[in-house]
Amino acid sequence: MSVCMDTTSVPRWDEERSIAGGGRTFTILSFGDEAAEQARNLLPSFDGRRVDWMRLPAEWGDTAARVLRRQLDASRVGCRLVLVGSEAAVLAARAVAVAGGLVDEEIMPVPIDTADRAVYCAHCHTTHLAGVEVGRCTTCPNCRAELVVYHHVSRHHAAYLGYMIDAEER
Ligand SMILES: [Zn+2]
Repeated sequence: MSVCMDTTSVPRWDEERSIAGGGRTFTILSFGDEAAEQARNLLPSFDGRRVDWMRLPAEWGDTAARVLRRQLDASRVGCRLVLVGSEAAVLAARAVAVAGGLVDEEIMPVPIDTADRAVYCAHCHTTHLAGVEVGRCTTCPNCRAELVVYHHVSRHHAAYLGYMIDAEER
């Protein structure tokens, strides 16, 4: 499988680590202790702005989703969202934020650890976490399909798409 980096939707985080100017209020969500350290280092760059910093568990879950939705409901024009955590948590949070009305320019993703990827199984439609490189294989824990982690991140599923390894031969 050949992949053209110009057309893939895999996040190039260094390029995305910028945020539209004009933000007056910054909401930082950090996922886990390591992310909290990173978030603390970021604080000086928001000098003079109002910053709400919420520390959440390392793994994305219902609690984090609830906190984020409440924050989105309360947010006004000029709000910027900073997401610090594992790539899986950052992607999941971004999907919720976009569904809640934010646009990409209002979201600053700061992934701290890209070893674990969220992989969406195209076979059984579940998502699991795997320490796998893009282009390598992982076994779906739900349906046991051997999946190739494809160079495509689904914004809807907040995960890399995983296709069955021999799907093209069928
Ligand atoms: Zn599966």
